[in-house]
Amino acid sequence: MSITWFENLVGKENVSDEIVDREVYSTDASQIKGKCDKVVWATEVKHLHQIVLYAKRNKLDLIPRGAGTNLVGSCVPDNSVVIDFSKMNKIIALTSNYVVVEPGVILDDLNSVLRDKFFPIQPEDSSTCTIGGMIGINSSGFYEKKYGRMKDWVLEVEMIDGNGRLKTYDSKVVGKEGILGLITNIKLKITDKIDERSMNVFKYDKLNDVLSKVNELKSNQEVIAIEFINLDAAKLAGLEERYYLIVEYHGFEGGVRDLNEMGRLWHIRKKIFHKLASNSYVYLEDPLIPQENLAEFLYYLETKNIPCYGPIGINVLYPCFSNREEIKELYDTILRLRGVIGSRQGIGLLKKNYLNEVMKEELRNLKEQMDPMHIMNKGKVI
Ligand SMILES: Cc1cc2nc3c(=O)[nH]c(=O)nc-3n(C[C@H](O)[C@H](O)[C@H](O)COP(=O)(O)OP(=O)(O)OC[C@H]3O[C@@H](n4cnc5c(N)ncnc54)[C@H](O)[C@@H]3O)c2cc1C
Repeated sequence: MSITWFENLVGKENVSDEIVDREVYSTDASQIKGKCDKVVWATEVKHLHQIVLYAKRNKLDLIPRGAGTNLVGSCVPDNSVVIDFSKMNKIIALTSNYVVVEPGVILDDLNSVLRDKFFPIQPEDSSTCTIGGMIGINSSGFYEKKYGRMKDWVLEVEMIDGNGRLKTYDSKVVGKEGILGLITNIKLKITDKIDERSMNVFKYDKLNDVLSKVNELKSNQEVIAIEFINLDAAKLAGLEERYYLIVEYHGFEGGVRDLNEMGRLWHIRKKIFHKLASNSYVYLEDPLIPQENLAEFLYYLETKNIPCYGPIGINVLYPCFSNREEIKELYDTILRLRGVIGSRQGIGLLKKNYLNEVMKEELRNLKEQMDPMHIMNKGKVI
């Protein structure tokens, strides 16, 4: 399709079909490669509205994209027009209870202007990921035990659906991975920053000891995050080869109160995936395992030497792989242990065969109402 229509609408500086751009936007953090027809940098809602109507008339596929850090192929194009939201990054309103933002605002940038307030959903990639993308995935973060997930903090989402209607929704459109429409504006709750925090690191040589400690910590209301690192992950991250629990407390019970030291501990945790990825473990899974089968799952990873870390306090773990072929056996194990495949970081292309039928049906119904022409993020999730 010709680029001229887009250039006339958004200006030459906000659209490209240059080979370099098409190459960059042909994938996301999943590393699955698709084919990008052109990239449009969103700047104005009225342009997006025109683009949706044009896509309807011409049966184009539109892919909304924040920072492209999702790991499941949720932004991988299929001869599509990728709509990059990074230029729509204004904080429109800020009160003591809520903020109104454009979708391209980066999470750390938002928190840096909140001063004594705080947006508490803190994914590992908070320095890169955008609020629009976090809504798309229904992101979670280190503090899920206390604060839940993205959908718990969304007050309103303004979106242009696949019919071309600009409407305001509640949290029902959270977690839909761009298959219903283009999100243009978001109103989020915020909360008070927690000043009284402390942390501790527990190191163990036996998995049984880890599990007993996790059980004890889970029932402690002051504990807001329990992060685990297994032996293989510790070794690859250059740590002493032991099991680690990094624990954060609301209050001073936990031990370390020094903000610099706490920053150092979180830094270790935040860098684990980067360390694993630099050792070729670039594929991250995110199963949720029922409490009664957690021990069996951890022993399984152990026997297979699969590096793993993650928020064990909510029964979610992140086993990492260097080869996608090896993941099939993991999925069989998760299903045998009655766990959930793809529990936290989206479904996209990679996990759609594992989404349960009830959720698929619900999404198909929404899709039929809001994007009957199937012009939004073709082939993802359902
Ligand atoms: C190192 C690393 C660590 C991670 N850690 C976590 C973690 O701790 N917790 C977690 O939940 N996830 C995590 N993720 C996964 C992912 O990065 C996050 O979920 C993140 O929120 C995605 O943000 P993004 O801006 O990159 O979104 P993108 O990847 O660009 O998009 C995600 C989805 O949202 C849709 N979308 C984006 N913008 C819009 C819009 N304006 N309108 C409609 N739909 C839109 C896209 O189409 C896509 O379906 C991690 C990823 C990496 C690479």
